Amino acid sequence: MELTEKLKVEVAARRDDLVALTQDLIRVPTLNPPGDNYREICDYLDRRLLRSGFHTELIRAKGAIGDSDKHPRWNIVARREGATAGDCVHFNSHIDVVEVGHGWTTDPFGGEVKDGRIYGRGACDMKGGLAASIVAAEAFIAICPDYAGAIEISGTADEESGGFGGVAYLAEKGYFSPERVQHVIIPEPLNKDRICLGHRGVWWAEIETKGEIAHGSMPFLGDCAVRHMGAVVAEMEESLFPALAQKRTSMPVVPDGAKQSTLNINSIHGGEAEQAGDYTGLPSPCVPDRCRMVIDRRFLIEEDIAEVEAEIRAVLERVREGRETFDYDIRELHRVLPTMTERDAPVVASVAKAIEATFGREPDYVVSPGTYDQKHIDRIGRLKNCIAYGPGILDLAHKPDEYVGIEDMVQSAQVMALALKDLLSN
Ligand SMILES: [Zn+2]
Repeated sequence: MELTEKLKVEVAARRDDLVALTQDLIRVPTLNPPGDNYREICDYLDRRLLRSGFHTELIRAKGAIGDSDKHPRWNIVARREGATAGDCVHFNSHIDVVEVGHGWTTDPFGGEVKDGRIYGRGACDMKGGLAASIVAAEAFIAICPDYAGAIEISGTADEESGGFGGVAYLAEKGYFSPERVQHVIIPEPLNKDRICLGHRGVWWAEIETKGEIAHGSMPFLGDCAVRHMGAVVAEMEESLFPALAQKRTSMPVVPDGAKQSTLNINSIHGGEAEQAGDYTGLPSPCVPDRCRMVIDRRFLIEEDIAEVEAEIRAVLERVREGRETFDYDIRELHRVLPTMTERDAPVVASVAKAIEATFGREPDYVVSPGTYDQKHIDRIGRLKNCIAYGPGILDLAHKPDEYVGIEDMVQSAQVMALALKDLLSN
């Protein structure tokens, strides 16, 4: 049998193991926030990967945002050397899942199998992808024990809350340095026949309008910060949103609506703080002297972050022209530059070849509307040869009755095993 065929058969033969592994991972409820059970899932992965001949390290992101003794941020990095020197292929999966939410008809932490699917929070985002990468590596090692280079598998904390206690921490400690790792595959649920090359940029900021507090029966004695913010929203509607809709990117962003610049108003808070649900009194009459808005601007590789910022400031300055007492502050909360791996990068070419060998057609190349841990690998790790590729449908992520298709997992594990063959052949 030809090696490609052998690898595919070997992965397919491990189907039951792949299902059981995914179920086990789903059954550890690693909710984030607050970051539950990271140590438990790392211990589970540790036992599994030690058995498969990996050298493992459990690393706590001590002192990172979110890390505490109650909720320590544990990560696992496992590495298995081949027979000779060569490149290292690293599979990185986040181990955290988002809150359950309402509307489930299955147990979110049960890992129930029904109609060829495994259900549970994190099934597609991304415990199914983590399981697929482990089984792919184990199958590859069984068939090609004398491979060149090294394979790494990591399970990392906090991706859903920015990745600072996970990949960012590890990247700062050198785990993604180009000397150690040459190829990174992140098995996020982007569909088994698509390669995700990167993501748009992010700029989060908080805008605060200022006024003056006074008695609500005499608002003319104060200055209403909420009305000032209303003027900001009106100006955004008038000039900013139409301008953003005009900016189109050549990045292959999916879905189509995200092929332009976007802005979300995440929140607006003005005036008296909301009282607890058990408060039965009335509010007090005050003119609000502060109003805050958090904006989430997603930008394109064609845009400069300085321009993105200047554009928002221009909106505020236009409002100032029409309002005598208008005053504001603006504060950046978070920034991530857009990134896109070249199509001829080695990891892209190898996974593309593996997809062709598995599905008989070329992959689709996509870019994610939102960011994921590639941002830290790119910026801190200085590693450009990185993609997201894994089983599952992105639209199901964070939804009730999240699932991953078993056949999809098997096929993407085959793709991963074939990519290993291509990148680590001796
Ligand atoms: Zn994810």
